[in-house]
Amino acid sequence: MPQPDLSRFSRIRLLDGPTPIQELKRLNAELGGVRIFVKRDDFTGIGGGGNKLRKLEFLLGEAKAQGADTVITVGARQSNHARLTAAACAHAGFACELALLRTVPRDDADYVNNGNIVLDDLFGATVHDLPKDGDVSALVAQRFEALAKEGRRVYFAPVGGSSAVGCLGYVSCALEIEAQSERMGLSFAHVITANGSSGTHAGLAAGFAASGRGAAFSKSYAVYYDAQKTHGITLEKARETLALLDPSARLKDDDILIDGDHRGEGYGIPTQGMIDAVRLMARKEGLLLDPVYSGKAFAGLLHDIRRGAYKSGANVLFLMTGGVPGLFAYQSVFRSSKS
Ligand SMILES: *Cc1c(COP(=O)(O)O)cnc(C)c1O
Repeated sequence: MPQPDLSRFSRIRLLDGPTPIQELKRLNAELGGVRIFVKRDDFTGIGGGGNKLRKLEFLLGEAKAQGADTVITVGARQSNHARLTAAACAHAGFACELALLRTVPRDDADYVNNGNIVLDDLFGATVHDLPKDGDVSALVAQRFEALAKEGRRVYFAPVGGSSAVGCLGYVSCALEIEAQSERMGLSFAHVITANGSSGTHAGLAAGFAASGRGAAFSKSYAVYYDAQKTHGITLEKARETLALLDPSARLKDDDILIDGDHRGEGYGIPTQGMIDAVRLMARKEGLLLDPVYSGKAFAGLLHDIRRGAYKSGANVLFLMTGGVPGLFAYQSVFRSSKS
């Protein structure tokens, strides 16, 4: 099968080459049998790092191709996507506005003002604070109009950066994983990620479908919607992304693997499994998961390994997606449950 060609899409480089794949040696010794490797997408170039930078390479490429000078995006109060959009805009010379909703039911000072919020401000973004059920479309429309009056050209990046163009960042990651695992002589049973706005999983699925590996090589743990809704959204985004690469390619329902059992009560609401997973990774490996996404996904992976979902000797690749500033926004959760 021909490799998908990403060179015809506009792109602004934000990553400095492939991110490392590393083995979790101390943790694996304890698990006894399955070997977990991590793909260090938390280790990316600018803004504190994280998975959104791969999407932003293509989103800002599109913004530049359209002649935009200002980027608006939306997210939750502690959105990593918003923070990395602010950083990438600073790096590439765009003005940036963020419309942030109080989606998560937390109103302590750390959640409201620490973590990503500190950084959004440092990167020079304009932050619009909206209530939980605030009308974000109305605010965005109003900002478009006001900025247009000032002669500015505005580009809108959707929540999580998960348009089909944004998902190309994870097509690129899928191809990178193929090349890297071949070079390292490693074969993986699955590539695992957290699933919020679904673009990361959708991009990986489209990339692995286009490379001939098959979309079901990737698998995700839903942290935003339930499994069924997440499945529908991920399948749709993966199809839209694949259509940009190969209009004749098809994806079936069961090409998209979603587990919804580790989301807990909802988006941004801590679970005991997440707290245990974040702490285990920190204490065994000195690596940082985040409380909203990768902590819940890693809890899911550990649960599945312990219940025997993978054969002894199997390798799995877990995508470290970043989100470290979230730890400061949730510090009370980790401290009050200190063991
Ligand atoms: C956004 C995010 C994810 C999920 O990526 P989606 O493409 O939105 O599904 C995972 N981990 C972290 C830290 C994130 O910020």
